[in-house]
Amino acid sequence: MEMIDLRSDTVTWPTAEMREVMASAEVGDDVYGEDPTVNRLEAEAAEMFGREAGLFVTSGTQGNLIALLTHAPRGSEVILGDKAHIFLYEQGGISALGGIMPHTLPVQADGTLSLKQIEGAIRGDNNHFPRTKVVALENTQGTVGGVPLSPEYVQDVADLAHDHGLKLHIDGARIFNAAAHFGVAPETIINGADSMTFCLSKGLGAPAGSILVGDRAFIAEARRARKLLGGGMRQAGVLAAPGLIALHKMSTRLHEDHVNAAALASGLAQIPGVRLLSNHTNFVFFELSDAAPVSAEDFVAQMKARNILLSPYHGAPRKFRVVIHHWISAARVAEVLAAMRMVLG
Ligand SMILES: *Cc1c(COP(=O)(O)O)cnc(C)c1O
Repeated sequence: MEMIDLRSDTVTWPTAEMREVMASAEVGDDVYGEDPTVNRLEAEAAEMFGREAGLFVTSGTQGNLIALLTHAPRGSEVILGDKAHIFLYEQGGISALGGIMPHTLPVQADGTLSLKQIEGAIRGDNNHFPRTKVVALENTQGTVGGVPLSPEYVQDVADLAHDHGLKLHIDGARIFNAAAHFGVAPETIINGADSMTFCLSKGLGAPAGSILVGDRAFIAEARRARKLLGGGMRQAGVLAAPGLIALHKMSTRLHEDHVNAAALASGLAQIPGVRLLSNHTNFVFFELSDAAPVSAEDFVAQMKARNILLSPYHGAPRKFRVVIHHWISAARVAEVLAAMRMVLG
């Protein structure tokens, strides 16, 4: 029996259709700019987001790093959330490799940074200060529960950044989940942003890769930074081909994941021993209360024995994050709830 893997949407396998197009993809040397499938993916992603150009990168981490290296010279500053993936989970790459200083602001419960605090964090012109170059948002904001940021808020941050001569970068690993939540076009959800990275390999199900979009001059520089980081790939069309399916087809079905996540959340709220913490987009957070008759380790083990994979959330042993994706259907959600009732009953 197949595992029901709830640990992340990164665990999604490529679909049968993706595997077929991988086998037949037209390819060339992408470092020469000659891979037609990569070129198509970059162009179509850029068009979908209303930007001039796109860049196929190996991962979301690489895309964010390239974007910030391109926007911000050594010794300059980026304003970003203290719970941002870029700050917490990318090994400090912007500092280690780019000499960029993170200027963190508290991420609020709704996933936003306060506009007032952003404005207050922008450095004045003074010999003692680093120069502020860029503001980075994350949408959906993972660590506070997959909360989507509205297009209006994103526009407000873009306007504020631009008023001060700064760029706005969006870490949009799950940007299509945010667009699906608000029922808006991809272009609208990144209102005003100068650059944005999104993952093809999370909820969109492609085996690898992310895309960075922006204007032509930005992407030309970003392409240099990608090469610098060792990210120039050759016949990458075999990866871009499933990326095209991710972009056009998988991106339109994410509302189903949100419906299934909501169903899971409402089921969990009724299980004794479970405290539902949050549900936004395709994320559900819960914890085992003191009333739960098992330890967290036993809970994980007993769920695994029922073919359901869960992992405790970073550093919080009784807290769990469940991520719903393409391979977790409504029927699977019902199986998960039934198994939890057994284990916790
Ligand atoms: C997954 C993720 C990334 C990084 O993507 P990788 O492809 O794993 O490097 C960046 N930001 C957010 C919000 C993510 O969830």
